[in-house]
Formats: sequence, C-alpha cells, structure tokens
Amino acid sequence: MARLVLNQLSKRYGDFFAARDVTLDVADGEFLVLLGPSGCGKTTTLRMIAGFVEPTSGTVRLGDTDVTRLPAWKRNTGLVFQNYALFPHLTVAQNVAFGLEMRKVAKPEADKRVAEALELVRLGHLGERLPRQLSGGQQQRVALARALVFRPDVLLLDEPLSNLDAKLRQEVRVEIRKLQQSLNLTTVMVTHDQEEALTMADRLVVMSEGAVRQVGTQRDLYERPADRFVAGFVGRSSFLQGALEAPQRFRTAGGIAVACNADLAPGAATMALRPERVIVGPSELTEVDNGFPGEVEFVSYLGGLIDLHIRLSPQDLVIAQIPNREDGFMPEVGDKVHVGWTTASAAVFAGAGSA
Ligand code: ATP
Repeated sequence: MARLVLNQLSKRYGDFFAARDVTLDVADGEFLVLLGPSGCGKTTTLRMIAGFVEPTSGTVRLGDTDVTRLPAWKRNTGLVFQNYALFPHLTVAQNVAFGLEMRKVAKPEADKRVAEALELVRLGHLGERLPRQLSGGQQQRVALARALVFRPDVLLLDEPLSNLDAKLRQEVRVEIRKLQQSLNLTTVMVTHDQEEALTMADRLVVMSEGAVRQVGTQRDLYERPADRFVAGFVGRSSFLQGALEAPQRFRTAGGIAVACNADLAPGAATMALRPERVIVGPSELTEVDNGFPGEVEFVSYLGGLIDLHIRLSPQDLVIAQIPNREDGFMPEVGDKVHVGWTTASAAVFAGAGSA
C-alpha cells in the first residue's frame, strides 16, 4: 500500500497541454476519482501515473520512490481499462495468470496468487471457464482480478464500468468500493459519470482543460464550489448574471440578492443556485433572505421530485427542485410564484457567463 504524490505533472503535445501542472496527494488507502468532461486530461493523468504516457514535466512519487522515469512494468500499479478485453481462448485463471508469466513469477507462486485474486473478486469457482461463458459483470471482475494479482501499491481504474448496463454498473460500483476498502488499496479512478464519482470516491478531483479546478470531498464540492465550472459540473446549478455592487450586494435584472462571498471585488458577477436549495411558494416568502417573484416556464416530473423552471427576468431563469407531495404546493406552467433562497446556499463568482 502506498501514498501517491503527483507534483506539477504536465503533458504537452506540441503547443497543447493535455494535462497542466496537476498536483495531487493521494493518501494511503484513499479512493480518489478524477472527474471531468471528455478531453479534460483525466486519462492522460492516469496514464502518466501508470507509466504509459511520459510526462513533459513534473514528478510521480509512489511511496518513497520517484517513479517518474520508470517504465510501466517496474511500477507496482494495477490498471483496469474501459475495454478490459480478456483473451477469449484462455480460461479465466489463465487470463489472470498471464501478466505473472510475463513477469516470470514461478508457477506455484503464480497459481497461489491467481487463486487469491479470483477469490477476492468472488470468482474462485469459475477459474476454468472461458470469458464468453461469463456475464459482463463477471468479465469485469476478471479484469479486476488481473490487476489485483500483482498486489499493486496503487489500483488505477480507467472508466472501468462504462461497458456495463446501468443496473450492473450500480452493483459493480459497490463491489469495487467494498473490495478497495477491505484491502485498503490506494486507488485512482477516471470517470465522466458524476453519480459514479460521487458514490465511490473518498475525494474527487474536478478537471477541465487539462487543469485541476478543485479537489475535495463530495460535500466540499457541493457546498463550496471553487468556481463556476465546478458549480455547474458537480450537482446542478442555475446561474444568475449580474454585478456585485458592494461586497454583499448582488444586483441582477430581477432585483437584489445578498451575496455571502465578502472577499470579491465589485464588478460583473454570477450567482449559482442549487435547485434543491431554492424554495418556491404561491406568495411572498418570509423565511428566506432573498425573495423574487417569477413565472413558471416549464415543469418536469421526475417521480418523487419535480423540476420547475422559473423565469425571474428575461435573462434570469432559476431551476427549483421540489418534492412531489400530494399535499404540497404544485404550480403549473404559467403560474406566478415566488422563489427564494438563504444567502448561505448561493455562491457568487467573479465574472459573467456560466462556464
Ligand atoms: P475522455 O473522457 O474523452 O477519455 P479525458 O479527460 O480522459 O477524456 P484525455 O484522453 O486525457 O482526456 O485527453 C486530453 C486531451 O489531450 C484531449 O484533447 C486529447 O485529444 C489530447 N490528447 C490525448 N492524447 C494525445 C496524443 N497522443 N496526441 C495529441 N493529443 C492528445
């Protein structure tokens, strides 16, 4: 088991930075998830840790060792790819043993390790089957066993669940997380699936355009997004455009709201609101710091929850998510309503725009 430290790790292709100054400290036994839109540099970062992509600058330390210039096979990492392609003509056990043979591990020791790895993923009884005789979820577990058989210091998972259907994905998520916790295995996973990231991670790294935008727990990212990108990418936000007139005075076309970020300079600003934190009522709300009249523009039924799009002004649209209760307030398209939120639940960022 080991701590993994990336220090100002960059990868440049010509003038283009696929990853830029990525600095991360992954604790021993921690499950860290790299999250971000397609092309943000997640895979590049993971591959630099694995040793498949050579960094342009920066360092990778694993435990006490600087592994930046070590070839992949000399780093003790276990990698599971999105396309975990098993050898179709080899049995499950042979698939898992394959890498050990390549590394010249003696047969008795290899057999022992294969049995151990298959046991860990609960496939001990299926070692003699061929991959095509397994379900998708079982095949995925073979791929995991293939990584665990090296007893890696760090487990690296690159979109490991994206080939599975939605239901299976949820099951395998939990399985991987439990296994990782029981082995106390330092793990870095790449995904663009926010729900997957939130359910599995100890901490998340939000990346965009090659750079780390924020590192934190689920709660950190949700309650204190570092910038507009994070506010829009983790959970949902609606954005009001306006200006900070005084340290706590945010003016938007629909009126004035109190801003809690006291350290921002006056000027163009954007307020981000979490739909779950927006309160909606038929008349003026008394229990909130910020109240605005608006008109319901769109209603979306999501079963237990309902999304309301509420127009505050030609430029300002607020999304509110309210519980679908039989006795609750249930506006319809065209209704005049009042929305509000507490100052603490709104984040204000400098500048205009929602990205
Ligand atoms: P996805 O979720 O789509 O896999 P990602 O966040 O993992 O995206 P990367 O695969 O790390 O993104 O790629 C980051 C950027 O670097 C992309 O714009 C990609 O086109 C570019 N890139 C990656 N590999 C190379 C390469 N070998 N040569 C040139 N550009 C590359």
